[in-house]
Amino acid sequence: MRALMFDSFAGPLRVETLSDPVPAPGGVVVQVGASGICRSDWHAWQGHDPDVVLPHVPGHELAGTVAAVGGGVTRWSVGDRVTVPFVNACGRCAQCAAGEHQVCARQTQPGFTHWGSLAEYVALDAADVNLVALPDGLDDTTAAALGCRYATAFRAVTQVARVRAGEWVAVHGCGGVGLSAVQIAAAAGARVVAVDVSPGALELARALGAEHAVDGAGDVPAAVVELTGGGAHVSLDALGAPVTCANSIRSLRPRGRHVQVGLLPPAQGRADVPMERVIALELGVLGSHGMAAHAYPELLGLIAAGRLDPRPLVTREIGLEQAAGALADVGREPGIAVVTRF
Ligand SMILES: [Zn+2]
Ligand SMILES: [Zn+2]
Repeated sequence: MRALMFDSFAGPLRVETLSDPVPAPGGVVVQVGASGICRSDWHAWQGHDPDVVLPHVPGHELAGTVAAVGGGVTRWSVGDRVTVPFVNACGRCAQCAAGEHQVCARQTQPGFTHWGSLAEYVALDAADVNLVALPDGLDDTTAAALGCRYATAFRAVTQVARVRAGEWVAVHGCGGVGLSAVQIAAAAGARVVAVDVSPGALELARALGAEHAVDGAGDVPAAVVELTGGGAHVSLDALGAPVTCANSIRSLRPRGRHVQVGLLPPAQGRADVPMERVIALELGVLGSHGMAAHAYPELLGLIAAGRLDPRPLVTREIGLEQAAGALADVGREPGIAVVTRF
């Protein structure tokens, strides 16, 4: 198969011909139709994820067609169109038994714990637990965003923060997951303040429903508190950086909820969380880590009904040969880049 690979952290990214994966017992191999390029792939390449073993193929936001089925798989056949959450749960641990597959104790992650989907084929574990059937009306390119950023934002806004109509929601960082959160929060009836250092990202955030756009280079907490009449009810760090994490917590009103959505690998420095505000204002500090496969029907139903629309988030369709440049420049162009030609 053709695949984007690297054999040293932060080293050259090359398209190489590698051996095709074979399905594990209980797993499948998917022919990748589309694979998004996400900041998490950049972290894997930079060596911020201890799970990554060299040489490595990144990629975890995928949609495609089942090409081979391992022994013991009962729900899936060759030819089925599918996507998958980036956390592939085991289906058997205590967290999985409780339905909390996104924090499975024995999870695997394509593009992190094994080779990923910036390739013609990718192996996925525990297929009966993790695959999500794609409706005919949802193309692979749009569906690729659902495996990570859009689903992660959906769960962060609706299930972790439990955003209610009329609440103020601040979104810090308007890359793929942040823009998704803007659209989902606005659709839930919330009033959204988008924060980013890029004018292009803020313009897209406004088009997706943000009521206000704030320049991330200024005094962000002061601006959010001013615009919202005392602070946001919910604030998301959708970038994952010490400064956006602290700004998010400082943007909240009393009893507000911060949700950490962007990864914060310690290699980039730990966030300085103002715990004195957490206690004095009774703030909630929450984490959100993807979304279980069994939770996708609600999201797919809202998309099918036209209540949510991930399509405008995909701003670039590229070939595998352009993936290295897009990965190195992640965050530079607004919106989501998706590899659709392998
Ligand atoms: Zn599990
Ligand atoms: Zn991702």
